[in-house]
Amino acid sequence: MALPFDFSTLNLAELRKLPMFELPGGWSRQRHPGGGCFTDPPGFPTYYTRSIYTGRGDEPRSGPDTIIEDPETGAMHALPRYEGRGEELRALMAKLYVRLPFEHPRVQAWVSYLFGYFRNCYEDPAVPMAERAHAARLLIPKAGAPRPPPETHRAMVRVREPYPEVPVADLERWINAGRYGGGGPGDWWERHAERPSAEDCPGLVWMQGNTGHRAEGWCQFCGRVDGKLPGEEGAEP
Ligand SMILES: [Zn+2]
Repeated sequence: MALPFDFSTLNLAELRKLPMFELPGGWSRQRHPGGGCFTDPPGFPTYYTRSIYTGRGDEPRSGPDTIIEDPETGAMHALPRYEGRGEELRALMAKLYVRLPFEHPRVQAWVSYLFGYFRNCYEDPAVPMAERAHAARLLIPKAGAPRPPPETHRAMVRVREPYPEVPVADLERWINAGRYGGGGPGDWWERHAERPSAEDCPGLVWMQGNTGHRAEGWCQFCGRVDGKLPGEEGAEP
């Protein structure tokens, strides 16, 4: 079933300042929104971007190649093309974003997901800033080896980008506490207001369409394991 997205994190006044885009005849736009990546906080505008395809299914060679739809009017607003404009685009995304309070359940689920995913991954201060977050440049201390400073934990760094006011000490308990795969918060928080019930869970909502709720094993969308939420009676510890 269709589970509505929560667009409250999109700054519509800023979105409407971007140039409007009309699809030329025969062209199409990506069906499911999301150039986003789970390292972006809940409802970040990257979760709502859509690629544009020409009549031949290619990306346009010039002009806008990505839009965000106005959820109220359906109008398409063009984003600047990415090439060489990563910084500008990032600044624009920040402007289009209305962040949720840190205590919001979606934010807490995101934090849990990040710390589980980046379990034991630290950034290396010796690596240039632009490459520090690359998977191949992360430090993964061996068992028993001294742990790098908590403020360099990859999830810590990422969480504190949109939430710089949250002290490192408040987040330290997450280090090595989170889980990812085979149990965890799921990724429903990316575009949805709340975790769906097992009946309403669409399963993975990725590019190919919904996969359906997984009743056995880990459902990556709602986070249930064998139908149970983490912490629920009878759930895996
Ligand atoms: Zn599910």
